[in-house]
Amino acid sequence: MSDTLMDFDEAVRRYDPVLGLEVHVELGTATKMFDAAPNVFGAQPNTMVTPTSVGLPGALPVVNARGVEYAIRIGLALGCEIAESCRFARKNYFYPDLAKDFQTSQSDEPIAYDGALEIELEDGAFFTIPIERAHMEEDAGKNTHIGGADGRIEGASYSLVDYNRAGVPLVEIVTRPIEGTGARAPQVAAAYVRTLRDIFRALGVSEARMERGNVRADVNVSLRESPDAPLGTRTETKNVNTFRGIEQVVRYEIQRQAAILAAGGEVLQETRHGQADGTTRAGRVKSDADDYRYFPEPDLVPVAPSREWVERIREGLPEMPAAKRRRLKAEWGLSDTEMRDVVNAGALELIEATAAAGTTGQAARKWWMGELSRTAKEQETGLEDLPVTPEQIAELQTLVDSGRLTDKLARQVLEGVLAGEGDPEAVAAARGLEVVSDDSALLKAVDEALAANPDVADKIRGGKVQAAGAIVGAVMKATRGQADAKRVRELVMERVQG
Ligand code: ADP
Ligand code: MG
Repeated sequence: MSDTLMDFDEAVRRYDPVLGLEVHVELGTATKMFDAAPNVFGAQPNTMVTPTSVGLPGALPVVNARGVEYAIRIGLALGCEIAESCRFARKNYFYPDLAKDFQTSQSDEPIAYDGALEIELEDGAFFTIPIERAHMEEDAGKNTHIGGADGRIEGASYSLVDYNRAGVPLVEIVTRPIEGTGARAPQVAAAYVRTLRDIFRALGVSEARMERGNVRADVNVSLRESPDAPLGTRTETKNVNTFRGIEQVVRYEIQRQAAILAAGGEVLQETRHGQADGTTRAGRVKSDADDYRYFPEPDLVPVAPSREWVERIREGLPEMPAAKRRRLKAEWGLSDTEMRDVVNAGALELIEATAAAGTTGQAARKWWMGELSRTAKEQETGLEDLPVTPEQIAELQTLVDSGRLTDKLARQVLEGVLAGEGDPEAVAAARGLEVVSDDSALLKAVDEALAANPDVADKIRGGKVQAAGAIVGAVMKATRGQADAKRVRELVMERVQG
């Protein structure tokens, strides 16, 4: 069954989209949120569990202090207030990946609340996302359905459960309804989650690897007739973990809901699932929070972070990605567009690391945005996956700066580095690519060229200085381009004019 869609441009002309994003991030703590089982990805199924991970009788939870610290870091980075005291709550429901039959979460007492995050869109415009809350909770295990289409439970012949992820610390960040995006709604949603991802990494609270599901977004979308109408009915598309997917889901829901409303229908409040083709399909009809019978977790004391601790965490916060971008842009002397290209190419960290390894930001940018971007595109891979390190690029540039390599030779050396032949010094030596700077070798080539072209030598002597170009050219050819043309010219003039 395929949905009727309205053209996107028409949809956003006729309706005002409102977004709500719930972003889950898995924290990179050493152990789980409420027990001592290791928090690791990719282990043998069901090897990283304690009795508490799966709620065996008598097993009691203990709060992971580092998990709380990370949640506070996130809250502070998003400009939130940090609760003086807050409690965990049980969110009760059955699912095979939730052995306890409840998820330990926070409901009306989140650790952080009332924040805002400024994001930058691809065209350089800024947009402020209002943050309602960031709360702590635990992840569930992972079900794998075998035998059905696309790994779905429908039609599966059996299911496997892996509890390694059960109890992994999560922070869920919930926005207030995001209004005023208009046609930019898909872009805003993706840029917001991208900005969060960068912040998680900068804060060191998570590797924030999308492909591992470290960061997942529930995407709420509704439409209304006009910006001053009450909010419309929303759908919630669960667990979207790519930026492109987020953009597609918002776009699709706007088109789908607009078609329903235009035909006089009603949008159902339901959870939906994003599909690989960028569409969404209906899931269950959404339950209200009441259905989860939230109640305060009796086995855990309230979390009451002292103001002193919170201030210490605030002082230790690293520079946020947006501020860093502004600083590096100024330091490297880049225009807005140049900086945006760098960010969009995913080259910021690489350029920064290259500059830190001993060259200028400008030179580092030239390599990563030029030769290396071309290579990455040719090999259909990401910049960071190229077999070359920032240190090697810095070394290469140093060889250019000291006159030992010309730009052209440096590109050949880089080829060797990318081919796994070693560091730039070693490749230059092995391939015999260094500039010939030894004057005696150059003089020999100059003399040979002059002897082979006596008429040119006469012309120079007669005052036609530009004729020296022919001799310089001959010497460059004889040295296979490895001479410094400026030095060769000096030597020619010395020889001819005595
Ligand atoms: P739930 O538990 O149902 O997921 P939450 O309150 O946790 O509800 O999250 C709902 C998200 O959707 C929040 O980001 C909220 O701001 C947003 N939201 C609420 N109402 C609407 C609406 N009518 N349209 C779009 N987003 C909405
Ligand atoms: Mg929710």
